[in-house]
Amino acid sequence: MSRVYNFSAGPSMMPESVLKRAAAEMLDYQGSGQSVMEMSHRSKTFQSIADGCSNLLREVMQIPDNYEILFLQGGASTQFAMIPLNLATKTGKVDYVLTGQWAKKAASEAKLLLGEENVNIVASSADKTFSYIPKLDPAKFTPDADYFYVCLNNTIYGTRYPEIPDTGNVSLVADISSMALSQPLPVERFGILYAGAQKNMGPAGLTVVIIRKDLISETVRPGTPTMLRYKTHADNGSMYNTPPCYSIYMCGLVLQWIRDEIGGLDKMYQLNQEKAKLFYDYLDGSKLFKGTVEKDSRSLMNIPFVTGNEELDAKFVKEATAAGFVNLKGHRTVGGMRASIYNAMPREGVEKLIEFMKDFEAKNG
Ligand SMILES: *Cc1c(COP(=O)(O)O)cnc(C)c1O
Repeated sequence: MSRVYNFSAGPSMMPESVLKRAAAEMLDYQGSGQSVMEMSHRSKTFQSIADGCSNLLREVMQIPDNYEILFLQGGASTQFAMIPLNLATKTGKVDYVLTGQWAKKAASEAKLLLGEENVNIVASSADKTFSYIPKLDPAKFTPDADYFYVCLNNTIYGTRYPEIPDTGNVSLVADISSMALSQPLPVERFGILYAGAQKNMGPAGLTVVIIRKDLISETVRPGTPTMLRYKTHADNGSMYNTPPCYSIYMCGLVLQWIRDEIGGLDKMYQLNQEKAKLFYDYLDGSKLFKGTVEKDSRSLMNIPFVTGNEELDAKFVKEATAAGFVNLKGHRTVGGMRASIYNAMPREGVEKLIEFMKDFEAKNG
C-alpha cells in the first residue's frame, strides 16, 4: 500500500492513525458486533459516541457552558440560510464582510431571504482578487444589526483574519470551515462558529455549529422550515432526525487524536505555524514560485501560489501528481496552485513538497 500526500482543499487528508483505528473497528465496534454505520442512532452505543464527540469538542475548543454544540447536515452552505432565518429577527438588518467566494455566497443567501437593502457590505477585498483581509471601519457597521458575518479563513484565496473583529454588542458569526481545530479560538467572542467537517474535522456529511444559547429561539423568520431552526436540533440533542452518524464517530476520533496524540490545540497551532512558515519562507525566497496573498493576511491552512506562467503551472501540477503530491491545482476561479496543509498533513509532507519544488525550480527556473 502506498499513500499520497494529499493537498486537497476538502474533503482532505485524515490522520493515518484515525483511519487505522476506524479500520480496526469497522466490523465490530467495541464488542457490539456491528459497524458504527449499521447502528441505530437511538442505541445506547451510538448515543455514547455522539456524547463523547460533543464532550471532546467542548474540552478541546474550551467551549463555555452557555454554548450549544449542534451536529447538523447540509454542509456549511446550508448555514448561509440558517443564520439569517434564525438570527435576523429583530431589525432584520445584518452586516457582511466579503473576503471571497464563501462569504459572497453567504451574503447572497442573506439578500435572498432578507432583501438586498437589509444586507450591509461593510468591506470587501474583491478589488484585488480577495488577496487580503480588508481593514474594517466601525463607522460602516450597522449599530443595530442582528449579527455581523465573517469567513475567518478563506479556503479558495488563502487568507485568514489576522485578528478577530470587535463588533461590540452585535453577535459575531463566523464560518471556520477551513480552520476549525487548527488553532485555539476565544469562543466567547462569537455568537456562532460553524464548520463543514470535511476540511479539518472529519469526513463530509457533518456540519458542526457552536451557538450561544441565547441565540437559539422560538422566534425565527416567518416560514422557516422545522429542519432549518436551530431550536429543533437543540431541543432534540441533534437527533430530531437521523444525524450523520459515521461522520460524528470519525470526528470523535479526530478529536481524540488532537487531544491525546498531538497534545491539544495549542500544540496543534504551533505545528501548523511551523508547517506554514516552512512553505512561506520557501515561496518568499523562490525565483520561480510566488505566493498570491498579502503577508499579514496569510492563511496557515490554504496556500495559493503561482509561477506567473500558466503552462508552467500546468506542468508543475502534472509532475507533482506523478511524484505523489496530489490535488495541488488551484481553484478554478484563481488558477495556479494551492497547497492545503490542514492538521492531518504531516510536516514531512510539506518538507518533501518543498524539496520537489526546489528541484522543479532548478530544472525550469
Ligand atoms: C468548503 C467551504 C464551504 C462550503 O462547505 P460545504 O460543506 O460544501 O457546504 C463554506 N465555507 C468555507 C470557508 C469552506 O471552506
